[in-house]
Parts: sequence; C-alpha cells; structure tokens
Amino acid sequence: MEKENEIQRNAPHALLSPPEILNSLGKIFEDADHLLNGSKDLNELDSQLRFLAGKKGKLTEILHNIHSFTPEEKKIIGSESNEIKKKIEGIYKNKKNELINASHNEYLLNRNRIDLTIPGVYIERLHTHPITAVLEEAADFFSSMGFEIVEGPEIETAYYNFDALNIPPNHPARDVWDTFYLLNGLVPRTHTSSVQIRTMEKKSPPLRVIAPGRCYRYEAVDATHLFMFNQMEGLFVDKNVRLTDLKGILEETVKYLLGAKKTRFRPAFYPFVEPGLDLDIECSFCGGKGCGICKNTGWIEVIPCGMVHPDVFKYVKIDSSKYRGFAFGMGFDRIVMLKYNINDLRLLYQGNLDVLSQF
Ligand SMILES: [Zn+2]
Repeated sequence: MEKENEIQRNAPHALLSPPEILNSLGKIFEDADHLLNGSKDLNELDSQLRFLAGKKGKLTEILHNIHSFTPEEKKIIGSESNEIKKKIEGIYKNKKNELINASHNEYLLNRNRIDLTIPGVYIERLHTHPITAVLEEAADFFSSMGFEIVEGPEIETAYYNFDALNIPPNHPARDVWDTFYLLNGLVPRTHTSSVQIRTMEKKSPPLRVIAPGRCYRYEAVDATHLFMFNQMEGLFVDKNVRLTDLKGILEETVKYLLGAKKTRFRPAFYPFVEPGLDLDIECSFCGGKGCGICKNTGWIEVIPCGMVHPDVFKYVKIDSSKYRGFAFGMGFDRIVMLKYNINDLRLLYQGNLDVLSQF
C-alpha cells in the first residue's frame, strides 16, 4: 500500500517515451538556468537545486520509468541526464560563489559606508580662557621689554606677604587686606607683591620681572569682587630708575592691553612704595561721561604702582643709595573685564560655555 502511494506521488505524469524524456531533460536544463541564476540568496538557491535535481526532484521524476526502456535507450537517456545533472551542478556552484561574494561585498560596503547626506558632527573648537589669553598677551608684551617671568608660592608666610613689604603687624594696612589666615599662621597670599621680595632675595639688580598668579582676599563676592583673583606683579630695579620710567612703561601697557587713549596718575598710599600712585584710564563703558561702573567719575583705576620704598630694599639688602626701582600690581581679572566689556566678574569663573565661547 505504501509502495503504491510512493509510486503515485513520484509518477504524477503519464509514462514518457524516450524522445519525450530527452525533450524534458532539455526543458529542465532551461528551467535550472533560469531558477538557479534567479535565486536571491543561498537558501533559495539550495531549495531550487533540491526541486530540480534532489532525490525527489524533477530529474528523478522524469526518469522514474527508465527501467522499461531498452539498454540502448537507457544508455542514451542515462548519459544525457548525467550531463544535465553536471551542468545543473555547475550552474549551482557558480551561482553559489556569486551569492557569497555579493554578500561579502555588501558587508564590506555597509561597514565602510559613508553617508554624505547625514549632517556632520559639530566639533567645538577650543581656545584658552580669556584670563589666560590676556595673561599670555601681557607676558609677551613685558618679555619684549626684557622682563623675566617669575613665580612664587600661593601660600605665604606673613613675613613675605606683609613684613618685608613694610607692612608691620600693627600696621592698619593689614586690616585693609582682609586676609584669610590659615590655622598654622600662613596666609593664602593677598597679592603677588610677595614675589618681589623672594626675587630680590635671590637675585641682584638690575632686575626686571613680572609675577603673574592667583591671590586670595576675604571678600564678599559681587560683580566686581571675588575671594580669589589673578594679579600680575611687576618690578623694575636698576640704577637711575625714575618715576618717568614707571609712567612710560605703564602707559604703554594700558595702551597695548586695553587700547586706552586717556590715562592719569593719582597719588595713592601703599606701604611698600614711596611715592605711591594709581594709574587710571578713561572709562571705556561711558567714554568718561560717568556711569555706574566708574562710579560716575569717568575714570577706572587699573594699576596701583609706585617707586619701591627704601625700607623694602633694606629687607632684601639692596643699597637704596645705589639702586632705585618701581613696582606695580595689576588686578588681572579687572583688565580682562575692561578689555572685553564684561560687567560681572563672576561670569569669568562659572565655566559657562555660552559666555566663554564668545571670546
Ligand atoms: Zn563710566
């Protein structure tokens, strides 16, 4: 019963004559060429091969009554069907290689694909912080006049921060500084003037130095004051240094850094200079007419300065009858504010890229 069913299934067509079989073989080859070469992937290719030349495929189906033919007919049909089978296998192999190569190429293509229509990734171009940029600009300017850049510690002894600068313990100026004191008696320096002393202790005149760095004062934070700020100290010591040297160099400095057109010097008191001065520039916010920033004076103080006090020279054992000098201390953050018309100092320290990227 099973056997009969098998035969039924394998013999859906009427029995074919030998010429019909040869004809069908040719038709199978044509189909094979079409079906195999039309396969889109390896799965389809394999299933087409099974359909054509598998155990229960078309080829087997056509040959199912070959046993009833003469030996001569069997020989011709057998050889022809072998030939067709080989050709089908040949087509299969070629197509298989083609599909494998194509999928590999597609993989490579996808892996290396660059889609030129996708918007690019914006890369933020970095630059130095405005304070650093102006410090570097100032350092270049002073270097061009033969000034050397020196540094000192941010945590100082009271001696270097006050005493050697002619500010004795009972001096009212010590209150003015509003200093942070550490428990061990040291102070986060209140100005870079301490570097003057350290430099004059180590080196003999002639001296031309600038000392940029951070300073600390016990200040309430507002638009123009922070508890930490940047200062640049300058010191020039030589024979025959005069007030006019100070004046000339500092006027050039504010012209170079701030484009200042109008300047003035006012007498001021600082214990470590005699005479002491303040260099003011005309207010760039109001053009000298008076505004909130210049407190309606039309002038903005930018560089406290003066001739080195003979008592300071005594501390560092420089003979004040032979040498004279001038010193100045620029509040650097203030210079940056004036240069870029920034009305709130805190903006420079908040790390806000919306602000910083404008420079
Ligand atoms: Zn003003």
